[in-house]
Order: sequence, then structure tokens, then C-alpha cells
Amino acid sequence: MKSSAVAKAAFAAEQSGGCPMPALEIENLSMRFETSEGPVTAVDDMSFDVPVGSFVSLIGPSGCGKSTVFNIVGGLLTGHTGSVRVGAETVTGPHRAIGMVFQEESTFPWRTVIDNVAFPLEVSGVGREERHEQARHFINMVGLHGFERRYPSELSGGMRQRVAIARTLAFQPSILLMDEPFAALDEQTRLLLGDKILQIQQDLKQTTMLITHNITEAVQLSDRIVVMTYRPGKVKRIIDVDLPRPRTSEVITSTAFGAYVAEVWNDLREEASRGMAEAEAATQTRPSRRS
Ligand code: ADP
Ligand code: MG
Repeated sequence: MKSSAVAKAAFAAEQSGGCPMPALEIENLSMRFETSEGPVTAVDDMSFDVPVGSFVSLIGPSGCGKSTVFNIVGGLLTGHTGSVRVGAETVTGPHRAIGMVFQEESTFPWRTVIDNVAFPLEVSGVGREERHEQARHFINMVGLHGFERRYPSELSGGMRQRVAIARTLAFQPSILLMDEPFAALDEQTRLLLGDKILQIQQDLKQTTMLITHNITEAVQLSDRIVVMTYRPGKVKRIIDVDLPRPRTSEVITSTAFGAYVAEVWNDLREEASRGMAEAEAATQTRPSRRS
């Protein structure tokens, strides 16, 4: 089940001699917020591509501007300079080709798993039987077979995030855009969920942009990692991850995996230290609550 936009782009890539076309192009992207303490440049002149069918992670310490990029790419935030393009189109608001998965819980508590996942199909007017059949396909894909009739409150946090991912996949977006979807989960659950994501990537050739602050997750899942600087968020370095596919979480035991983790940490250490120092300085300038 591939959207025609992806199929067309893949065809165009083949025509261009196999060189992967960018599904998403971010060019000279900057964003400044006006705050009570003056202007804050959250994103500063960032440029990078997400090629068709590839998995790209954007990594950086907390507060470096990742969610700002996520919201601009998803068309939820405007006021930026530079451009975000999907194929030939410039993103100026929510775009049909982009499916978003948020960090916060976003399942509908009053709907069962199957009716959560079938929601986008229901909105598009697909009949009940057909939308349930399609929803089952995506539920199986995220490993929730047998839980179709459960309500979100009857599931674990990791399962609820999988429902949210299946619901976004049911839109059949050309580009899957996720902002720290596993941040609230423990490390083991996160690694095992990573296996599901790797499988989806393999089955759908789903173009994906993942926002994360987790180095292991970025290396486990990505073809390319864009490392950001801490405030203002710039591209510090782009690392192509040449680990074999198909991949599973077993990859984390390999020497090559360890070398990539070290490489990313090398770049991030300075940025994370800067973030920590700023956060500590801010607590010192804040008035003490104790009298
Ligand atoms: P991250 O997702 O990497 O943690 P964000 O993109 O949320 O970072 O934030 C980057 C910077 O921009 C932070 O300093 C944050 O305080 C600031 N910022 C984000 N959104 C707004 C906003 N709506 N108004 C003012 N400042 C904002
Ligand atoms: Mg964020």
C-alpha cells in the first residue's frame, strides 16, 4: 500500500539513474520567536534533505529547536524564513503528503484501537467494512493484532504510541514525521519498538523523519542523522549511517554501531554541555522560593 506520490517519486528516482530524489527539502530554514525576554532564534539557517524511502533522524539536546522544525515541516507553525518543500510544492500549512506523530498521547480515549486507526479513513468517507480491513493491516504492522477491540486506557504507553503510529500510517502519507514518539518509554520497550519501526520501514519503504534526543535510537533506525547545535539550532553535521538493512535491534551489539554512537556523541557532547550550563545558569538567576 504505497501512496501514488511515493510511487511517482520512486519512479522518478529510477529514471534519474537510481539517485534517490529528496522527498523533503529544507533550505535555509530559520525561525525567530518574540518573547517577553526578547527575540529567541530557535532555528538558524538549517538545510538538509530527506531522500525518498529513507529514514532521517534529527538529533539535538532539549531546547535546541527540534520541535520547532517538526511544527514548521508539518505546517503547524509559520513565520519562518527559508523553505520546506515536498517534491515541487512549498509547505505553507498542513500538507496531505505529511503524516505526523506527536510526543504527547494522541489516541482518542473514547474509540477502540480499530476505530482509532480507521479514523482517517472514516473522515475520507471509506465504508465501515473496508476501513476496518485497512485498519487491521496497519494494526498488524505495528504488532497489535488481537487488541483491536481494546480502548487506549487498557493498553500500555508503548502500545498507545503504536496505535498513534498505525493511525498516521492509515493516512498513507508520503512522509512520516515523528517528534520523540518514544521519549516516555523505558529503554527496552524503546529498542523493541524500534524493531517494529525498522520492519515498517522495510515493508513500506516509508520516507520518515524522526525527531529524537536519543543517540541509540537515531543510530538503530536511521540512514542519515542530522546533528543540531544547541540554541540557535543549526545543522552541526550530517552523518550517513552505513549499517546493513534489513536491520533489527541486534545491530546494537555490533562494533560498527558502537562507532556511530561514539561519533554522534562526540558531536553532541559539546551541545548538550552548553544546554546544561544554560539551564543551570537560568536556575541561579531565578529568585529562590525559600525565604
Ligand atoms: P526542542 O524540541 O529541541 O526541545 P523547541 O523547538 O521546543 O526545542 O524550542 C527551541 C527554543 O525555542 C526554546 O528555547 C524554546 O523556549 C523556544 N520556543 C519554542 N516555541 C516557542 C514559542 N511558541 N514561543 C517562544 N519561544 C519558543
Ligand atoms: Mg521538542
